[in-house]
Amino acid sequence: MARKVTSFRDKLKKAAKEKHIKCPVCGREKKFVKAIRARRTQKGSYRYVEEVVAVCGCNEKDVFA
Ligand SMILES: [Zn+2]
Repeated sequence: MARKVTSFRDKLKKAAKEKHIKCPVCGREKKFVKAIRARRTQKGSYRYVEEVVAVCGCNEKDVFA
């Protein structure tokens, strides 16, 4: 459990280092945000997972909807 949290923080740190990436499509700087997404399991129930997503003008509406 503690290990999972640590690796997630490492991911965020890594994402923060790479935050000055510009999107070649919209020309805006990509921002890395933590998003909660619903994932359907094989049993048919939903489970929420945290993901780090790169957001720019191309997908910000999808991510923040
Ligand atoms: Zn873009």
